[in-house]
Amino acid sequence: MAITLSPKQLGTLADPDFCKRCFWIQHKMKFKMPYALFPGIFSALDKYQKNITVEYMNSFKRVPQWLNAFGEFTAIEPSPHWSKFQIALPNGILFRGVSDTLLRKTDGSLFILDEKTAMPKEDGHKLELLYDVQLNGYAKIANAVGLGPVSGLGIVYNVPQQLDEMVKVSSVVSDDSYIMTFKPVIREVKLNPGLVDELLELAANIIEQPSCPTGKSECGNCALIDQMAKFAI
Ligand code: SF4
Repeated sequence: MAITLSPKQLGTLADPDFCKRCFWIQHKMKFKMPYALFPGIFSALDKYQKNITVEYMNSFKRVPQWLNAFGEFTAIEPSPHWSKFQIALPNGILFRGVSDTLLRKTDGSLFILDEKTAMPKEDGHKLELLYDVQLNGYAKIANAVGLGPVSGLGIVYNVPQQLDEMVKVSSVVSDDSYIMTFKPVIREVKLNPGLVDELLELAANIIEQPSCPTGKSECGNCALIDQMAKFAI
């Protein structure tokens, strides 16, 4: 059976505390877990933020100022559908996904940008480790499908601004709507193809185990899941 994985799903293995059992079960469940409600507002925000970069480039032939630190760009490439942004790896994994924004640099190389509605976390935080793998995963796929060479990766954290002495209520409220501003904060992500290859091997090893691996002894959630299952039968 083909093992399908996205760069984001692979990124969960970058957490030094990851659980083999959880990953094995999630893969069997095709990464659809019960009670995992995801508010649609974040997808709407992501789309809006991505469109700002695209529309700004279309209108002014340059990227918004906050992206200048990533280099000089000539165009935005359309992000391919996952069916055209995938690679079949020798270890049986079909590695695929959908990247955020693909920026073509003046030297012809590709820069992959990810927009997040989130606060940046401290170095080494498990979410930052996940993002590093996610972006490096997109780089691996982009190079393989001929969109590269990928020369850089970056994240824009769109941080919502609070009302304070800088943002006055009178300047943001009108009769039937209000404006919320976001402060873009950027972080360059290091290219690290070796990390992705290492985690892809680890993922294949876990998924190919014929029975469910043991969970973490300090995690009580497995016992709760067993209890839930007993009630549900
Ligand atoms: S031990 Fe915890 S983390 Fe691992 S499978 Fe069970 S619930 Fe998930």
